[in-house]
Amino acid sequence: MSALFENYGKRRAKIVKGQGTVVEDSAGKKYLDFTSGIAVVSLGHAHPAIVKAIHDQSQKLWHISNLFDIPGQEKVAQKLIANTHFSYAFFCNSGAEANEAAIKLARKHTGKNHIITFENSFHGRTFGAMSATGQDKVHNGFGPLVEKFTILPFNDVAALETTIDDSVAAIMLEMIQGEGGVNSVSPEFAAAIAKVCDDKGILLIIDEVQTGIGRTGTKYAFEQTILKPNIVTLAKGLGGGFPVGGMLGTAELYETFSPGTHGTTFGGNPLAMSVAETVLDHVFAAPFLQNVQELSTYFVKQLKTHLPSTYTVQGQGLLLGIGCGDIEVASYIAAAEEKGLLLVGAGPNVIRLLPPLTVSKAEIDEAIAILKTILL
Ligand SMILES: *Cc1c(COP(=O)(O)O)cnc(C)c1O
Repeated sequence: MSALFENYGKRRAKIVKGQGTVVEDSAGKKYLDFTSGIAVVSLGHAHPAIVKAIHDQSQKLWHISNLFDIPGQEKVAQKLIANTHFSYAFFCNSGAEANEAAIKLARKHTGKNHIITFENSFHGRTFGAMSATGQDKVHNGFGPLVEKFTILPFNDVAALETTIDDSVAAIMLEMIQGEGGVNSVSPEFAAAIAKVCDDKGILLIIDEVQTGIGRTGTKYAFEQTILKPNIVTLAKGLGGGFPVGGMLGTAELYETFSPGTHGTTFGGNPLAMSVAETVLDHVFAAPFLQNVQELSTYFVKQLKTHLPSTYTVQGQGLLLGIGCGDIEVASYIAAAEEKGLLLVGAGPNVIRLLPPLTVSKAEIDEAIAILKTILL
């Protein structure tokens, strides 16, 4: 009998090791990993530069506490904010924690507590982040939730405009809803958000926990829109598999997070920072991001060529989705696993495609060949 709570529905494959895009189970069967541990293993499994970073740093200093200067935090922060409108970073351990920091910062900075979020969003499982999340299945049984989150329909300009008033501290959203169905913010909605934030002095928090760090072909997904968030949250891809989260903020927010206002024991420890620095040295290089865009164009073209036109192709960069209409995708995902391709769902009707950002065209071709046999 297992000694674990059954809070996760477990997949069949028992994965024991990985290299690049390929993982192997305990019986020696190989799979193409088009989940990347849900957009985490951005440089692929066991990337030699990350192995080296962990090895080297582990022999110097793993942890010292944020009571002391951690030079790695300054280096990673500088890389994250370079050529952006952000001035400061805060480090934590997960996406939910990054969003908690953002919610706290927005409330304290504005002196207001009302935050607008959207249906089918996902912001994490802690109380604040869960309350911000627009999915009943995430809330059920855990109430009362944190107050003052209003969850509006996504991409609905009229609903946004009629709800906004002087009580609103912030709007919080994902540029592409990852868990909620690979749904992109429409240009009209982005324009409406930019306008209400501007008119009313409302803070904009963009949750780039899934879309950030090169996943959509640019450093951050918001760069491809007119939006200029005051706060961005990060996690998944930032550590390439090592748990680390982060929050970036603009200069005006500096005074609000003064000494003693917020913190975490493990956040930004030297080991985590050595890994994040290595990830950014790779992913933020222009040719690397250019390659992600090329791979994306190729992948989308192959999907559109080889799948029946009843399926829709959604998303950007290497955060793609195959929309299957009303069909539940769980059995497709199980069938793909059987044939050596790991996939994950996004909501009940969308197959999410999240290969490592280092995936090859040959691996994309292999994935397409398997998808063709499943999606008839
Ligand atoms: C995964 C995810 C989170 C939660 O991150 P954890 O590290 O699991 O806490 C928050 N927001 C988005 C958009 C995510 O995809």
